Amino acid sequence: MKRKTVICWFRQDLRLEDNPALFVAAEEGYVLPVYILDDSSPGTWQMGSATRCWLHHSLVSLNRSFDGKLGIFRGEPLEILKTLARQHKAEKIVWNRCYEPWRMKRDQGIKATLQAEGIEVSSFNGSLLWEPHEVLKQNNTPYRVFTPFFRRGCLNALPPRTPLPAPQRMLMADTIDNSISVQDLNLLPSIPWDSQLISHWSVGENSARQSLLRFLDQGLNGYKEGRDFPGQNHVSRLSPALHFGELSPNTVWYEAKRCGSGQDLDHFLSELGWREFAYTLLYHNHDMPEKNLQSAFDAFPWVHNDETLIRWQQGMTGYPLVDAGMRELWQTGYMHNRVRMITGSFLVKNLLLHWHYGQQWFHDCLLDADLANNSAGWQWIAGCGVDAAPYFRVFNPVRQGEKFDPDGTYTLRFVPELAKLPKKYLFNPWEAPKNILQEAGITLGKTYPEPIVDLAISRNRALSAYASIRKKK
Ligand code: FAD
Repeated sequence: MKRKTVICWFRQDLRLEDNPALFVAAEEGYVLPVYILDDSSPGTWQMGSATRCWLHHSLVSLNRSFDGKLGIFRGEPLEILKTLARQHKAEKIVWNRCYEPWRMKRDQGIKATLQAEGIEVSSFNGSLLWEPHEVLKQNNTPYRVFTPFFRRGCLNALPPRTPLPAPQRMLMADTIDNSISVQDLNLLPSIPWDSQLISHWSVGENSARQSLLRFLDQGLNGYKEGRDFPGQNHVSRLSPALHFGELSPNTVWYEAKRCGSGQDLDHFLSELGWREFAYTLLYHNHDMPEKNLQSAFDAFPWVHNDETLIRWQQGMTGYPLVDAGMRELWQTGYMHNRVRMITGSFLVKNLLLHWHYGQQWFHDCLLDADLANNSAGWQWIAGCGVDAAPYFRVFNPVRQGEKFDPDGTYTLRFVPELAKLPKKYLFNPWEAPKNILQEAGITLGKTYPEPIVDLAISRNRALSAYASIRKKK
């Protein structure tokens, strides 16, 4: 059979292993691997600053896997693909599907135009265990509650595809002449704040696999309980790699099943299920990043207060666990899931600021910032999502600290100025007697902030705000 040239357009699948599009390209022809930074398409949700840094390093790694032969471009994908197809006489273009609404719309248009010009196009599922249109209720409508979605929908559907190997023998097409370098994409900031951030991580397909193996070896056993304790090593921290597709969820799913068992395994798989659920919600609700899924919340009396927002962003609220989380985010580009819930609840309930502020800050600062997961997470925490936390569940950052970070390991990592405070007051320093504060070298309002709001008063204010929209229902 005569081999043709096949363009493999990489997007959120920056890996060789279990990459359905690349697998087909390598089977059928000479592979022309391409990445196109499309940050000019209309759409408000372009990448945040932290994810741009991750992408830079991930592309460097992918390019290395192709011995420097990854074609790198910036601009309008349709024009670039058409030009490449013409220059290299490519008969086929393949890619793995993306699910952000603006990308789906763009890709449908690109596919139709290329096909009309006689180029064969195939797209594959490379980033979800089940495609959103496959998991529906018996009446063919999408699930709106997680447990039936996962237990009845996903687990009763066909099992996820088993991972494909990396192509064994890949014949590469001719080198692409007009490719730019990863550096030319200008993904890194001009002021190099990113080096500190990225120093906490190892980026790329090989590192992602090593992180997975480390987690399966050391973290999965005990995951169900341990995942709630931010000071313990019981979470995988695979979310940035899953977002950029350095690992497929299929690889994670089957490797976890191979290594784990019992409730720890079930719980871990169900967290991958939450990821699927978020994508399903976005797929069926394109405006989820902007609009409350429960429209009653459109009348919610949010407050506007730039000062409290900035103090939340900077980790200077005077609530040590909240501040630890916000500083973890700023310093490492990651925040533990339990702490995301606590800091989120604090923003939307105790500070009564709109969840959009939190969503946008996370979108910019998280290395795993992901439109589906981030929007679903914020709608959940704000109580306005379809299967959300009940509004009256207001996380108390003092109790949460005492319960989930009892020895302060996590909190003190990011709020070291409280290191000498007896544990009894670690999460409520304002209640410590003056002499204890003095002995610990703490002056509230100077070395560590006074609490920004009173917990009980702000909780009641939030509940009254909620009552006001319930009356209107
Ligand atoms: P693990 O516990 O090791 O879980 C393994 C994988 O399962 C994760 O990598 C992730 O892909 C998935 N997962 C775990 N928990 C959830 C969850 N609650 N929802 C959806 N998927 C989950 N996750 C993102 O990937 N990107 C985001 O932008 C994001 N924003 C969030 C915002 C808020 C307000 C909240 C409450 C949660 C958000 N999450 C987001 C979900 C969750 O916090 C992270 O996926 C998780 O903390 C990642 O850490 P991990 O890889 O160590 O998780």
